[in-house]
Amino acid sequence: MTTDKIIDGKAFAANFLGIVSKEVKRLKSSHELEPGLAVVLVGNDPASAVYVRNKGERTREAGMHSFEHRLPADTSEEDVLTLVAHLNEDATVHGILVQLPLPHQIDEQKVLAAINPDKDVDGFHVTSVGRLWTGGDALVPCTPYGCLLMLKDRLGDLSGKRAIIVGRSNIVGKPMAALLLAESCTVTIAHSRTQDLPERCREADILVAAVGRAEMIMGDWVKPGAVVIDVGINRVEAPERGVKEDGTVKTKLVGDVEYAEAIKRASAITPVPGGVGPMTIACLLRNTLVAACQQNGIEPPVL
Ligand code: NDP
Repeated sequence: MTTDKIIDGKAFAANFLGIVSKEVKRLKSSHELEPGLAVVLVGNDPASAVYVRNKGERTREAGMHSFEHRLPADTSEEDVLTLVAHLNEDATVHGILVQLPLPHQIDEQKVLAAINPDKDVDGFHVTSVGRLWTGGDALVPCTPYGCLLMLKDRLGDLSGKRAIIVGRSNIVGKPMAALLLAESCTVTIAHSRTQDLPERCREADILVAAVGRAEMIMGDWVKPGAVVIDVGINRVEAPERGVKEDGTVKTKLVGDVEYAEAIKRASAITPVPGGVGPMTIACLLRNTLVAACQQNGIEPPVL
């Protein structure tokens, strides 16, 4: 049955958010502590505005405090850094997320580096990266952490599994590799210069695709029985859906994996949309809860 193979990210995330919300409730009643997440949005990028609105809604639904800072597109780097410094000092803010991309006049690396690593719920600060790779208590980048939870849910113990991650970005590929290594997988990190990529993929019990190229990973690159996690989000033309009012062809989202063929070989696979995506915000809230506990000397729940 192919439906058993589909990892339903929406249902998984809803369940996980329920667990996070329960833990938030417990923290409030036991320690009178309400986790707070501050999100900074600079400019008018429509996609970023939607992400920020969703994050705010989910944060409040989980029983946490949401602080939203919307700044005009011409805000100076200095003003963003001043805001970050203020949020670092604010004891009611336990997590800080600066929505990327930032306008061109602002150095993203400088802003990310200014966030107190203990409040770095995105897990992008160099200190967080160092903690992750050295096995310390880290706030882990949200998308890879969501992938790990889904993998463990399907496979249980990951120890000894062969994993390939296609993509080596700082936000997905590399932290995914660190997490799977920490689970004692044998990890291959592939990228645009990797030779014999189809063969390398066929060796893997776990295949994580984080490339950003529509259906690049062919179905017959999947080892029979492998678990496939498709992080990619690509908008492509979908002539089968007809045309829009303006006469252009309608579009749809697809992943990095040739889903229709891959599902025949995989034991489990995430669809796009509705796979990895919904877990990203859920893991952001998990990180905010963990950060709130850590900043107040409370043992965080294991989530
Ligand atoms: P990047 O563009 O930063 O990285 C892409 C990686 O893919 C690079 O390491 C690149 O290699 C590699 N790559 C490109 N072409 C090939 C190729 N032909 N063969 C093998 N490897 C290749 O992307 P991100 O990591 O930021 O994102 C990847 C995808 O995941 C995107 O579609 C993005 O939208 C999606 N995404 C989804 C999220 C979610 O919540 N679901 C969150 C974050 C991202 P090289 O380093 O050699 O250039």
